[in-house]
Amino acid sequence: MAKEAPAPAADAQLPAPKLIVAISVDQFSADLFAEYREHYTGGLARLLKGAVFPAGFQSHAATETCPGHSTLMTGAHPARTGIIANTWVDLSAARAEKKVYCVEDESKPESSTSKPFVSSVHLKVPTLGEWAKKQWPASRNVAVSTKDRAVVMMGGHQIDAAFWYDRGAYTSFVGAPLPPEVLKLNDGLKALLAKGAPAMAVPAWCGSRDRAVNAGAVTVGTGRFVLDPKGKVKPADQLRISPRADAATLDLAASLLTSMKLGKGAAPDILSVSLSANDYVGHAYGTEGLEMCIQQHELDQKLGAFFAKLDASGVDYAVMLSADHGGIDLPERLREQGVPEAGRGDAALSGETLGRAIAAELGITKPLPACNLGPDVAGNIVCSDGVGGDYWISPQLTPEERAKVSEKLVARLKAHPQVEAVFTADEIAATPYPHGHPQDWSLIQRARASFDPTRSGQVYAALRRAIIAMPKAGPGYVTTHGSIWDYDRRVPMIFWRKGVKGMEQPQPVETVDIAPTLAAMIGLKVPEGSFDGRCLDVDGGPADTCR
Ligand SMILES: [Zn+2]
Repeated sequence: MAKEAPAPAADAQLPAPKLIVAISVDQFSADLFAEYREHYTGGLARLLKGAVFPAGFQSHAATETCPGHSTLMTGAHPARTGIIANTWVDLSAARAEKKVYCVEDESKPESSTSKPFVSSVHLKVPTLGEWAKKQWPASRNVAVSTKDRAVVMMGGHQIDAAFWYDRGAYTSFVGAPLPPEVLKLNDGLKALLAKGAPAMAVPAWCGSRDRAVNAGAVTVGTGRFVLDPKGKVKPADQLRISPRADAATLDLAASLLTSMKLGKGAAPDILSVSLSANDYVGHAYGTEGLEMCIQQHELDQKLGAFFAKLDASGVDYAVMLSADHGGIDLPERLREQGVPEAGRGDAALSGETLGRAIAAELGITKPLPACNLGPDVAGNIVCSDGVGGDYWISPQLTPEERAKVSEKLVARLKAHPQVEAVFTADEIAATPYPHGHPQDWSLIQRARASFDPTRSGQVYAALRRAIIAMPKAGPGYVTTHGSIWDYDRRVPMIFWRKGVKGMEQPQPVETVDIAPTLAAMIGLKVPEGSFDGRCLDVDGGPADTCR
C-alpha cells in the first residue's frame, strides 16, 4: 500500500485586521451588480478581486432599509432584531400619531415620524461593534450615512461617532457635539448648495439608457444631476438624491479615519458606512435609466478614492460590502422592456380604505384613533403603511369584532387580482424559523423571518411579482422596494482584504452571515446562538476564515 501523501500545507493564517470597513450600498440589488460589474474600474473593481458572493440574500419579506440594515451587523433576521419595517403602526401608543419610525424614541414628546428623536431603543440585539467593545473596551464603533436609520442599525446602541445627513448638513444624536471635521464638511456643503454644480459626466457605456420615460406627472431617464440652487426641489434634497451624497459621506468617513486614528489602537475598530445615494436615485429615477448609470459609475470611482485613502493610512483593514435590500425599475419602463405584467399597486389596498369598507359591512361605527395624526374617525379600524405588507387591526374592538374584521380583511385581500398571498399573524407565528438556502424559502417562511409578534400586523399581504407598492409616481418617487420577491431580496456580498486570495461563489448566502464572518476574522468571541447566520470561509485558498 502506497504511503499516504502528506496533506498540503494550509496557507498561513493572517493576523486579524485592525479595522473592519463595513459598507452598505443602499438598494444595491444583485441585478444592478450583474448589470454593471463589467464596467467597474475603481473601488468596486478592486472588490471584485476579493471573495464575491453575487447571490447574497436579505432573506426576509420586509425588504426595506431599516430591517435590511438591522441584519448586516447583528447576524440576525428582523424577527430577532425587532426591526420589522421602516415604519410600523402601534395603535395602543399613547401619542396621537400611531405610526412609529424604526429609529425614533416615541416616548419623547417632541418625537414624530417626520422629525424623529433618533434612538436605538427599538433594536433588540447587539451589533458587531458592540460585541467588539465588550471583548476589547478600547475598540471603537463608528457609523456614518446619509440616513439616520442606517447609522443606528449598523452601529447599534453604543456608537463612538455617529453622523447622518439632515436637510443639508450632517448631524448626530441629540446632545452629541459635532467635531471640527463635521463642522468643516457642513461648511463645504453649505457653500456647494449655494453655488450649485454642473451636470455630471456620462460614461460612454451608459449609451441606450439615456431615454425619456413618462410615469404620470414625471419624466425620468435622462437626468444628469445638475445642482441648481434655484431649482424647484430644495438644493439640500437635490444633493441627497445624487451621487454627491455618497461623496460627502465617504469624505466624512475618511476624515474620521484620520482624526480618530481608526485601526491604530489596541483593539480592532469597526467603521460602518452606508451609502444612500443609490437608493434615492433608484426611487427618484428607477434602476435602468441614465441616472442609475451615472450613479453606479460615481459610486465605483468614489469608493476607489476612499480605498486609496485607507491604503495611505497604512492600516491593515478588511472591507465588507453589501446592501440592505435590492430594487426594481418603475413599472412604466418595465412594461416597455419585456415585463408587461408590471404595474402599480391599487390605492384601494390601503388599510384605511379596506377598514372603512369592512366597518360599513359589519356595522362598526365607533370612532377609533386614526392611523396617523388626526381626529378619531368612525370606521377607522384597519391601518397599514401603504399598500400590501402588514395590516394592523384596532385593539379597541372586541375580540369577536377583531376576529370578524380579520376574516373579512383576509377575504378582501385574497380576492384582489394584485395579491399573491395573504397570511394571518397566527399562521406566520406557527411557521418554524426558516433555515437552509434562502432562495428555496416559501413565501410564508420569508414573512416569518421579519415577523415580531409585538410589532407586526395581524394580517400580511404579498403583492404579485412586479406590482410596485406605490399607487402613483411623483417627483422623487417613481418606484420602490419592500416586496417578498427576489429582486428585492438578492444583493451582492463581497469581502476583500489585501493579500487574501479572491474567489467567486455563486451559491446563495445570507446577509446574516456577514456578522459571524467578520467576528471570526477579528477573533471576536460571541456567545453560541447569538447569530442566525454562519461564518463564511472568504479565503479563496486553503486558509479558513472560520477556524
Ligand atoms: Zn434602503
